[in-house]
Amino acid sequence: MKVLKIDHLGIAVKSIDTGKGFWADTLGLDFEGSETVAEQKVTTAFFPVGESEVELLESTAPDGPVAKYIEKKGEGIQHVAFRVENIEAALAELKEKGIRLIDETPRIGAGGAKIAFLHPKSTNGVLVELCERG
Ligand code: ZN
Repeated sequence: MKVLKIDHLGIAVKSIDTGKGFWADTLGLDFEGSETVAEQKVTTAFFPVGESEVELLESTAPDGPVAKYIEKKGEGIQHVAFRVENIEAALAELKEKGIRLIDETPRIGAGGAKIAFLHPKSTNGVLVELCERG
């Protein structure tokens, strides 16, 4: 498999409106608008930084994965996303290497990217997302 770069860092916030203050106002990153991914019960906001992005994640429901994360660990870095050339091939290779996959097949995330998560039990406790963009 070929990992191209860190695509983005996913940061869980209670509210994008108040959470974006540091990223947009203090650091001066461009706020590119937000998008709700209903299936994931999350609203995301992207801030490009060079070749990568910061992704803020706000839950749309109390039982969503981001709400549960904040409940357990508080706000903060929730996942690291790596851009890969071919996500299906990457998942097949990782599975063969014994890595536990949360998503056996890719689903469609924000911005129409193909995404899949790896289980933190196989990655030293880091929730890793793979993504492929067309
Ligand atoms: Zn992400």
